[in-house]
Amino acid sequence: MKKIVLALLLGFILEHAPWRLVAITPQVLFTHPGPLQTSQRDDRYWDAITLEARIVDLGYTVTYTKKPIIGWGIPVWGVTDKREHTVVIDSDLHWNDRLYILSHEAAHILQPEWLDASEGEAFAESVAWIVTGDHYREHVRYLSRAKLEFLLMSITSWQQIYHAAAVLEDR
Ligand SMILES: [Zn+2]
Repeated sequence: MKKIVLALLLGFILEHAPWRLVAITPQVLFTHPGPLQTSQRDDRYWDAITLEARIVDLGYTVTYTKKPIIGWGIPVWGVTDKREHTVVIDSDLHWNDRLYILSHEAAHILQPEWLDASEGEAFAESVAWIVTGDHYREHVRYLSRAKLEFLLMSITSWQQIYHAAAVLEDR
């Protein structure tokens, strides 16, 4: 009887553990944060367009402009304004990077309200990792800027992270 219970428990854990987050965790903890590298690839154009449509479905406009800025004139690759319902992406990026940044920004739309800024970044980047399934090195580099928050989010909010990814992938 005990063996059956243990087997069922193990099966439950194997099926429901957030493996994609677990897989990236050691790298995030031991990587030194550094500047992100851009990709020149455009083969995920249609994935980006599909995700863009999903963001529009969420009630947001998506625009591409050269070097969007935030706050004190800091250039960023993407920015989401939840009050204005806008997502702006750097038009200098190729489509694979646009997909990456779109998924990060879309995750901000879906993130729980109570997260602080660093937790929000860890949340959004975790979702982006699950949605894009590539740019591994860049996700690791970005997440390593907020190691503690990433760990915290992985443990306390992995269900919300997976839910947000499922919404964006229309699963
Ligand atoms: Zn962000």
